Amino acid sequence: MTHDRVFAPGSTVGIIGGGQLGRMSAVAAAKLGYHVHLLSPEFPGPATEVAASVTIGAYDDPEALEDFASRCDVVTFEFENISARGLALLERHRPVRPAGEILRISQDRIAEKTRLSEIGVGLAPWRAVNGPADLAALETLGFPLILKTTRFGYDGKGQFRVRDAGELAALADLPYPLVAEKMIDFERELSVMVVRGLDGTVRCFDTVENRHRDGILDVTLAPARIMPGLARQAQDMAARIADALGLIGIMGVEMFHAADGTLLVNEIAPRPHNSGHWTMDACLVDQFEMHVRAVTGLPLPPARRHSDAVMHNLIGPEDMARVPAILATDGASLHLYGKNEARPGRKMGHVNTIFPRGALPGELALDVLLPPR
Ligand code: ADP
Ligand code: MG
Repeated sequence: MTHDRVFAPGSTVGIIGGGQLGRMSAVAAAKLGYHVHLLSPEFPGPATEVAASVTIGAYDDPEALEDFASRCDVVTFEFENISARGLALLERHRPVRPAGEILRISQDRIAEKTRLSEIGVGLAPWRAVNGPADLAALETLGFPLILKTTRFGYDGKGQFRVRDAGELAALADLPYPLVAEKMIDFERELSVMVVRGLDGTVRCFDTVENRHRDGILDVTLAPARIMPGLARQAQDMAARIADALGLIGIMGVEMFHAADGTLLVNEIAPRPHNSGHWTMDACLVDQFEMHVRAVTGLPLPPARRHSDAVMHNLIGPEDMARVPAILATDGASLHLYGKNEARPGRKMGHVNTIFPRGALPGELALDVLLPPR
């Protein structure tokens, strides 16, 4: 497959993944005049509702992948856990952007940390834990620490927090392989959405600040309320990773601003990311359009923010109950994902509240932005 081809509007963009990121990517592709063909195991689902056509099948089913590839010109994904075999099959048929190699790195926390160390960005001290025999050595990392499954973790799932040597010794039946990380005493969690085009152009959206609740992203503040130098340092770090990986497409880079002032990379996600949803209402060209432009080879405009924004995730039935009040709130832009069942912990949608640049409210006012939970 040639890897430098530009696909003009009118071509078909293939998106692997039937969730909300696929949905919003599909809408962005349609806005630019592309047809969208989707691979989704779920029908109907958030993304199939807005795609021109769909291959229904599992992400690792060779027949489904083959059918899917035959119906599109260029392939991208929102679902990160496509098997190595599935990826190789796709890459034989069509350009896959970002390249499968980047996906393989982001799928596995050990591969990811190894590659990020080679690139030379700061990371929380970590060790691979392949079995019970590796646990004793973790004392040298220091406590508290956190164990994470190397694969399939999201929204804080597959994580075990360990406060001291006693808790470490009491651990049993862990789902190896794991990675152990020292718990970082952080000032803030930051993230940067970075996009890199076919010609190597790199654009970074503003550095933002993320707050989690029960391991799930709750609120994003754009821009992060930090010194401009630190915000730029975060963007430079994201750009350096994108360049080193030869990224084509968008990537979320999650970071800790540690209490000692250093910036540490937590994880990368080579796809649109929840912490970039604020761009939908605060930027002329949002993260999804940037991603589509990158994977099709169109030019990337500067990632300019015209407004400040606060993004709130709507999670589970309790947040869905707030929707009527949110609809009646001035300045709040509602995005629902079309999921029919509001299970606890499930991301149902998000709300962006925008402000003139420089007018992001202070801590107290944040709480009263939206109707209370
Ligand atoms: P996921 O893939 O589930 O997003 P993360 O590695 O991003 O996994 O962890 C989820 C959250 O857990 C982070 O956003 C952060 O709040 C917390 N966390 C993870 N690793 C650490 C760490 N080393 N130190 C402190 N907090 C952490
Ligand atoms: Mg994360």
